Amino acid sequence: MLEECCLCPRHCGVNRLAGESGKCHIATQVMVSSYGPHFGEEAPLVGRHGSGTIFFTYCNLRCVFCQNYTISQLGEGDAINREELARIMLSLQATGCHNINLVSPTHVVPYILDALELAVGMGLYLPLVYNSGGYDSVETLELLDGIVDIYMPDMKYSDEKTAEQLSGIKDYPKVNKAAIMEMHRQVGDLKLDEPGVAQCGLLVRHLVLPNRLAGTKEVVRFLAQEVSTNTYLNIMAQYHPGYKALDIPLLSRPVNRQEFYEAIDLAHQQGVDRLDRYNFLPLRFVLR
Ligand code: SF4
Repeated sequence: MLEECCLCPRHCGVNRLAGESGKCHIATQVMVSSYGPHFGEEAPLVGRHGSGTIFFTYCNLRCVFCQNYTISQLGEGDAINREELARIMLSLQATGCHNINLVSPTHVVPYILDALELAVGMGLYLPLVYNSGGYDSVETLELLDGIVDIYMPDMKYSDEKTAEQLSGIKDYPKVNKAAIMEMHRQVGDLKLDEPGVAQCGLLVRHLVLPNRLAGTKEVVRFLAQEVSTNTYLNIMAQYHPGYKALDIPLLSRPVNRQEFYEAIDLAHQQGVDRLDRYNFLPLRFVLR
């Protein structure tokens, strides 16, 4: 797949093994911007000891409002080899994290698998979280069947024109829905243990954008009618106009209280009631 790269739906066709890079900038050298226990993730991932996040540098998306653009677009991070990546995974386990949370893994899947083989041989047993922007190909996801325990994709848009304007990929809604279906086929609805920590399953993230740009109505309809009304969904309110978003009038302000609660109501109307509560508390400080 790397020889004519078709790892993600962009299908760049470059020979990454020969040092060429496509839209995601990475050829053979994996880069990581940071790693450590994270307490700002969804409640079932955080538990008591945090989610063991590893932030991979670069991304296969080009979202104009990226909240992590210094990492995803500007390439902040350091190159690491498979031994170092395996050691990072094991160090997160030793710290007491509940899972290994692979952030933006889509463009480096083979390298993660390579390091994982080593880490498992050295005693890694934590659940693996595949935390992606949701632009994943079914063919690549099929390779992860039985390896990834928890899928946490975004559902960013349900409208092609918006996807093209804001991320440069018109087919995002179609590709994203197919990916979500495949993820759910593999792991089903999110399952928690007794203290409420996630063990396996699907957890979907949906960032509400100003002026209904995220297409929430169709996102929750799809989840309810084509995936499961028992889908664990995090409807997020924390959008702020960073990176290039200030140049786009419809994106140039935060989400307001009315827009956020409208998204919550739409989910309830479809019977999608398993909503992450973790981010609700700070809302009165965030929303106007
Ligand atoms: S993983 Fe990177 S090089 Fe491969 S198809 Fe996707 S964007 Fe292109």
